[in-house]
Amino acid sequence: MASAQEEDSPTDGAVSEKDERQRAGKPRFQQIDREQLFWRMINVERLIAEDHPARAIWEFVGKLDLSGYTGEIRAVEGMAGRPALSPQLLVSLWVYAYGQGVGSGRAIEQLCEWDPAYQWLTGAVVVGAHTLSDFRVKHEKALKELFVQVLGLLSADGLITLERVMQDGTKIGGKAAQDSFRRKERVEQALKQAQEQVAAVEALSEEETSRRISKARSRAQRERQQRLEQALKEFEKLAEEGSGKDPEKRRVSTSDPQARIMKQPDGGFAPSYNVQINTDASNGVVVAVGVVQAGNDFEQLQPGVDRVEQNLGKTPDQVVTDGGFVSRDNIVAMKERGVEFIGPCGDEAGKGKSSYEGRGVSPEYHSSQFVYDAQSDSYCCPQGKILSYEGKEQRHTQLSYRYRAQRSDCQGCPVKGQCCPGNRVTGRSIHRSEEIAEVAEFRHKMLTEPAREIYRQRAQVAETPNLWIKEKFGLRQFSVRGLSKVGMEALWACLTYNIRIWIRLRWRQVATVATVPA
Ligand code: SF4
Repeated sequence: MASAQEEDSPTDGAVSEKDERQRAGKPRFQQIDREQLFWRMINVERLIAEDHPARAIWEFVGKLDLSGYTGEIRAVEGMAGRPALSPQLLVSLWVYAYGQGVGSGRAIEQLCEWDPAYQWLTGAVVVGAHTLSDFRVKHEKALKELFVQVLGLLSADGLITLERVMQDGTKIGGKAAQDSFRRKERVEQALKQAQEQVAAVEALSEEETSRRISKARSRAQRERQQRLEQALKEFEKLAEEGSGKDPEKRRVSTSDPQARIMKQPDGGFAPSYNVQINTDASNGVVVAVGVVQAGNDFEQLQPGVDRVEQNLGKTPDQVVTDGGFVSRDNIVAMKERGVEFIGPCGDEAGKGKSSYEGRGVSPEYHSSQFVYDAQSDSYCCPQGKILSYEGKEQRHTQLSYRYRAQRSDCQGCPVKGQCCPGNRVTGRSIHRSEEIAEVAEFRHKMLTEPAREIYRQRAQVAETPNLWIKEKFGLRQFSVRGLSKVGMEALWACLTYNIRIWIRLRWRQVATVATVPA
């Protein structure tokens, strides 16, 4: 009987020789055959895990009344013809796609070919890019109703309270290049050319160009013509708004006429839209969304509160904003509507290096050294000259009255260099501010710790949806043009955001409970 030592050892010559050959030989690898064709069995239901978000989206969208989308469908039961794609599928596809940072119909079409989640949603059918793109922007009323319906479900689920709503604005890029902005005369010239090109393309016979190419060219030319016509309307709108002092300097984009050049958080300027988002503080649900062309936020608070009211039939108890929304008008309006307004006091926010220092005004000539005479409604300067009332203006939370000295008095004044060194063509001016009771009350409230504590919560609640929409959903630039379509894309993104909140806070809870063994 052989010992254990002998059993474990190579039996000698033959094995050693094989080892030697293996060591000396060239390695052999498995060939990859990419020319082969084969059938594969796919169980569509098992393409994704039980807790995959696509299942949650399908389930949630299945609860909604989508009849707003069915009015134009021609395929009906009992009649011949190809059945239409269901709105539940198209809504689910877009909601899932936005959540994955996919924002184009073409990309979704490609993903339907191989991505398990898209295949599960479609039942392994490829949905065409045109169908998807049209569905996204051709049902504005139905989409708005859908957004409100979703809010209704979230509210019934206890995810919205409207006790505290934060409003914030974020700039999202338009589909326009910086160099597409033109003066009115240039737009008129371009429109004339576009009209001639449309007429020329339409005049081509089918022999000269294939029907398909002709149709595509004609459509592209007509769209360009429509954009230029829209651009001319935007010039009229800018004139009505009194935008820019010099009409000669007004410019409108020829690629996305309704986009406006807006200041960006990094200090630069870019063609953009201002997206206003109202977020309920209890669970972070977006309760209203609007897109405007104004670059500033001062005039956006009241429309934002209106949208919340329209969507949920109730006014928020409290609204919290940053300093960009704080103005005398907004303080008064919120007070009248019974909405508590929390925000930094605009005039306080401007505190810092004295503006006098910046302008080189000596302390003896600060406005406090000028004497006001209520009877004549004028000021007297340290040199005994009169500053008469010139006009009034709104400065954040205050109404400010402006007084100005005679040009001749100041330009010949021996102390001009200490009083108004920068004034080369006018006399010195000073402002008298008047604070109304509502503003004084607001200012006093914002000095209290409870109000400051509420304000400290603002950034996290208000800026989270902005951040998600831009960073996670990839919506830093709209993929469509024009206020109406851009508004719809913003709604799709916020709809997606809200459904994902429901998945995180409700669906997983339900799913977990359902799978716990009894
Ligand atoms: S510069 Fe004008 S406002 Fe100032 S002290 Fe002289 S006169 Fe008065």
